[in-house]
Formats: sequence, C-alpha cells, structure tokens
Amino acid sequence: MRIIMLGCGGFIGSHLLDRLLDEGGFEIHGWDPSDRKIARHLTNPNFHLHRNTTNSPGELAEIESEIAQADVVFNLAAICNPAEYNTRPLDTIYANLFDIYPIVELCAKYKKWLVSFSTSEVYGRTLSSYLPGDNYSNPDFYELREDETPLIMGPISNQRWTYACAKQMTERLIYAHNQENGMPFTIIRPLNFFGPKMDYIPGRDGSSDGVPRVLACFMTALLDNKPMQLVDGGLAQRTIVSIHDAVDAMRLMLKFPDKAQNQIFNIGNRNNEVNIAELAELMRLTYAKITGDLSYKNHPIVNTTSKQFYGEGYEDCDRRMPDLSKAETLLGWTPTKPLAEVLLETMSYYHQQYASPVQEKVSA
Ligand code: NAD
Ligand code: UDP
Repeated sequence: MRIIMLGCGGFIGSHLLDRLLDEGGFEIHGWDPSDRKIARHLTNPNFHLHRNTTNSPGELAEIESEIAQADVVFNLAAICNPAEYNTRPLDTIYANLFDIYPIVELCAKYKKWLVSFSTSEVYGRTLSSYLPGDNYSNPDFYELREDETPLIMGPISNQRWTYACAKQMTERLIYAHNQENGMPFTIIRPLNFFGPKMDYIPGRDGSSDGVPRVLACFMTALLDNKPMQLVDGGLAQRTIVSIHDAVDAMRLMLKFPDKAQNQIFNIGNRNNEVNIAELAELMRLTYAKITGDLSYKNHPIVNTTSKQFYGEGYEDCDRRMPDLSKAETLLGWTPTKPLAEVLLETMSYYHQQYASPVQEKVSA
C-alpha cells in the first residue's frame, strides 16, 4: 500500500510510522521539516522523507505527483498547541485551513482517500457548560457524538477558537468534496493522545519560552524541580488515550477501508477521564514511583489563571467525553490501556530522555 503522510515527523506521525514500517507492506512518502522523532526510519528503503513543509515554494508539484500514485493520504500537518492559538492566530488559521486546502483539492482531483486529523476541539465547549445548574448528569448535554453534537465556538475575541474553527472549516471542505465530487475521506477527532515523543521539553529540546501541552508542562516542572501550574483551578476534564491504542484504530482503518471511509471518528478513551488537578496528582505519584524518590509525592502544585498562563483570549473546553460507538461497531476498536499504564510508560520515557542534563534527542 502506498501512503502519503504529511506531518509525519510529529508525535502521532512518528508512532504511525513506527507501526506501519515495522509491520512492512507499506511504502510511505512523508513531508515534514522535522525528523528528530523519526530518526530510526530515515534509512528504511520503504520510507521517503521530504524535509519540507507542504507550503514551501515548488513543493506542491511533487506532492501532486505522489498523491496521483497513492492509495491513501494522511494529513497530520498542523499547528496544534493551545499556547499558540491566541498568540499566533494567523499562523494557526493558515496551518490548519489554508495550507491544507490545496491538499484537499488534490485528493479531490484524483479521488484519493484522505484521512485527515481534525480535533475534538471542533465540538467547542459542551452544552452543559452554557446551561444554568448542574447539567453534567445528562449525557445528552455533554457527550460528544460525531454526527449529532453541535459545534459551539466562543466569541471571535477569544482567539483560542482559531484552531477549532479552522479545523471545522477543513472538515466541512472535505465533507463537501465527498458530497459533490465523491472524494473518499476519513476524519479523525483525537481526544488527548498521550505517549512517548509527545511535544517537547522547553529548554531541553524546544525553545525555552515555549508552552507545550499539559503532559509536557507538568513533566517539565517535575524535571526542573519547579511547581506544576494548575490553570483556573485544574477543573477542566479530559479523557486520555494511549497513542498505541490510537494507532491501533488507524491500523484498523487501513485494514477495513469500506468501514472507515466517509466517516468521522472520535478516538479517545472514556475510562481514562480525569480533571487536570487529578492529573497533576497522578503524575507526581507516578514520578515518585519511577524515580524512587518519595519526595515527588509532595511536589508543589500552584494555581494560576488562564490569563497569566496563556495570555488574553484563552477559553477552555470544560469536558470531553467521546461517544466511541462508531469506532467500536464499524472498526471493532476498543481502547484498552488504563491511565496508570499510559502515564507510567510516557513519564518513564521522558525521565530516560531528559532527567539527566540537557542532551540531544532520540528516536524511540
Ligand atoms: P505535532 O505537532 O507533534 O506534529 C505535527 C507535525 O506537522 C510537526 O512535526 C510539524 O513539523 C509538521 N508540520 C506542520 N506544518 C507542516 C506543513 N505545512 N508541512 C509538513 N509538515 C508540517 O502534532 P500531533 O500531536 O502529532 O498531531 C497531529 C494531528 O493530530 C494534528 O492535525 C493535530 O491537530 C491533531 N490532533 C492531535 C491531538 C493529540 O492528542 N496529539 C489532539 C487533537 C488533534
Ligand atoms: N493546563 C494546566 N497547566 C499546564 C498546562 C495546561 O493546568 O501547565 C491545562 C489547560 O488549561 C487545559 C488542560 O490542562 O485545561 C489541557 O491543556 P492542553 O494544553 O494539554 O490541551 P487541550 O487538552 O486543552 O487541547
């Protein structure tokens, strides 16, 4: 099977490459300027990396010629870091909509199967969060169902929603090409994939003033012996799924294209729900276990506000509880890894990579 993978050098792309190239039977042409997380595949004859962004001058002609010969196009290229949504809104909109637009057009032209990574953030905040009283007792007001749940964004001045809105428009573009031109598609809405190689640790393998996603933020605090910072009380709830479970779902999509095509799938784990304060607590306990240093059990946790942490214009998603029945019935997929296992694996990786003084990166 011939695969195009745009954004193959990131967290999800690197794990998908691990799975497909290790299994064999796939020829993969990837685009990503970053190869740090995929170093071990660079000499694999079945993998061809173009170390460029898709929007680099002249690149589109090469992409077109590859798409014309491909069986499936995975689109993972994005700016997808919450700290950047309201500080780099234009880049966020371009990366998640306008830079993807020509790729969608090419897939439509050649009627190629486009598997595009969207986000659970397209749902925005839940209905429960807008209604008076406690509405979390009624799943109809908070459960996220791919083909039913309304997508509710906040006001334009809360630029936090630039990402979600750009992703939503890309979903609509893809869907319209399916309806009008018969382009086969699959849209994946990931719900907090966790695992080794996620994001970066500021000052060690990223810009020292960057703010990665929560796992790497808390990990940085543990590694640097600084307080973990809870934004707005750490009340937001997330469901966390192992990257390995998530890659299983993608593998099943490739195995059963008839079931996967022309569908939108939530990919998450309903059993692994925590609020962010609970996540901080679990992470410091896990780190005490990994290091054998029991003082981590009491690692400092401090409160901060979203305005202080992210700047003006941030608004949080209150809760993300996915309906997974489509992935279960169509693909036969059920996530299996409990949160404790996910954290132990992921944090052990970070500990091995970064606990000793600053070092050059690795490929797992
Ligand atoms: P990531 O930031 O680790 O990887 C994205 C990769 O895309 C990076 O390596 C980057 O260099 C590359 N890239 C960016 N623009 C590019 C371009 N124009 N051409 C080629 N490469 C480009 O992100 P990730 O966690 O692997 O996420 C992948 C996709 O899944 C994204 O679309 C993201 O929005 C979506 N997603 C992920 C999660 C999650 O839990 N990880 C959650 C929601 C959505
Ligand atoms: N968060 C936090 N402390 C941090 C980083 C993030 O409390 O150091 C919170 C953030 O406000 C949000 C949640 O953790 O409520 C998840 O944030 P993340 O950046 O991982 O992305 P999201 O799940 O919102 O896409």
